[in-house]
Amino acid sequence: MFYNSTRNSTVKVNSAEAITQGISADGGLFVPESIPELSLEEIKAVGDMNYADRASFVFSKYLTDFTDAEIHYCTDNAYSTKNFETESIAEIAHLFDGTYMLELWHGPTCAFKDMALQILPYFLTTSAKKINLDKKIVILVATSGDTGKAALEGFKDVEGTSIMVFYPEDGVSPMQKRQMKTQEGSNVGVCALKGNFDDCQNGVKAIFTDGDVKAKLDEKGMMFSSANSINWGRLVPQIVYYISAYAELVKDGEIELGEKINIVVPTGNFGNILAGYYAKHMGLPVNKLICASNINNVLTDFINTGVYDRNRKFYATVSPSMDILISSNLERLLYLLTDRNDTLIKEWFGKLATEGKYEVTDDIKTKLNEEFCAGFCDDIQTKKTIHEIYEKYSYTCDTHTAVAVKVYEDYKKATGDTTKTVIASTASPYKFSASVLEAVQDSVSDLDEYDMIDKLAELSKMPVPTALADLRNKPERFNDVIDKAEQKNYVLKTLGI
Ligand SMILES: *Cc1c(COP(=O)(O)O)cnc(C)c1O
Repeated sequence: MFYNSTRNSTVKVNSAEAITQGISADGGLFVPESIPELSLEEIKAVGDMNYADRASFVFSKYLTDFTDAEIHYCTDNAYSTKNFETESIAEIAHLFDGTYMLELWHGPTCAFKDMALQILPYFLTTSAKKINLDKKIVILVATSGDTGKAALEGFKDVEGTSIMVFYPEDGVSPMQKRQMKTQEGSNVGVCALKGNFDDCQNGVKAIFTDGDVKAKLDEKGMMFSSANSINWGRLVPQIVYYISAYAELVKDGEIELGEKINIVVPTGNFGNILAGYYAKHMGLPVNKLICASNINNVLTDFINTGVYDRNRKFYATVSPSMDILISSNLERLLYLLTDRNDTLIKEWFGKLATEGKYEVTDDIKTKLNEEFCAGFCDDIQTKKTIHEIYEKYSYTCDTHTAVAVKVYEDYKKATGDTTKTVIASTASPYKFSASVLEAVQDSVSDLDEYDMIDKLAELSKMPVPTALADLRNKPERFNDVIDKAEQKNYVLKTLGI
């Protein structure tokens, strides 16, 4: 299996190269040259494996330059109860008839990002070895809150790597900030940026593609790579849990083999839902992929009208990990929907960079609507949904997941579609305990973050994740706040260049 760039289809690299480079030199994203197909029998057989073996099976289709032993080394290290608080790794909770919550947050940082970021360091170091790269890998991350911490946990003290994370100063939850400021490890750095997530991401992308910076790193025997979902090594682990969940539901007799399901995903950078699209096109029986946004609803508008327009007000919401106006992974989807037309992609994403806006052709709009539905909700509806689910089903969900539940309820009302449905539950409610507590109790309390966790435990009867409980006593190590314009120099300075 080889990988092409979305901005130059003649680029052809193997998975080890795609993963170590992160992003293609032309600014495009790496995409596998074809989508491997699974039979229903193969999907069913996945149900009899443990999670690490399920992942190995899926990876063997995409990382064909890895040996079986290399793949198993990665999956066995990443997907074990050493790192995850449940044996099944991705837990399925039954919400109501025919609706299942795929809980992807039982990893070390309590968000679904762990599903990919626990394995990415193994992919990266294995890839680097395979292509005889004797450079130190420097990971630069822009985060809206969850990626940063998950990447830090994944990469801390991993030999041959160092990691630097930028987050928007006022764009993450207090708990997320605390998680990052207290990060342990000798090869880690964390810095706040005066700006929003898009500023962080644009800055990181600009540094990645800066020839001058690259040359300076080269001299020092270093190279950049990315842990953001633009890296294929982030995306491929996310395909696994959709296939895994389906196989599990078949095994449990909840669905028939071959029966279609809907998948609902609370969406920001379009990585998680794109993984669902890949799973579908590998042969997973999927009816609709439902894209749920908060009030930063650029994707809802795009899917409904074909116009992507980031020229709009940016809102900070109670679901901060979805406060994004530029969804990077959409580029991969459009590359596939245009039958790999790199010229069109360059045109549209060029326009996005210069005018902040592009419109896709009518046939792409039609294709989008065949595959996807989209909706959004605001903070009030998000909290109301958390409250209702708590009251009706004694189930406590986080703010991001609640957006998905609300959009799914709206979808059902509008369409009458009774297809069984998997909702991606992307964070532990404890990670956003202030908002969740407010929603559950209907009142604001003046408790500190840790008392809130205790209170939420009392109300939800869900165990408190150890990693969050432990934060209380950790010292803060990282307090730098910088301007956007300083980002490049900050990186060079930190690397000692
Ligand atoms: C990152 C994140 C999302 C958005 O996922 P994308 O892959 O960026 O679309 C949703 N919910 C939570 C909790 C997240 O951390």
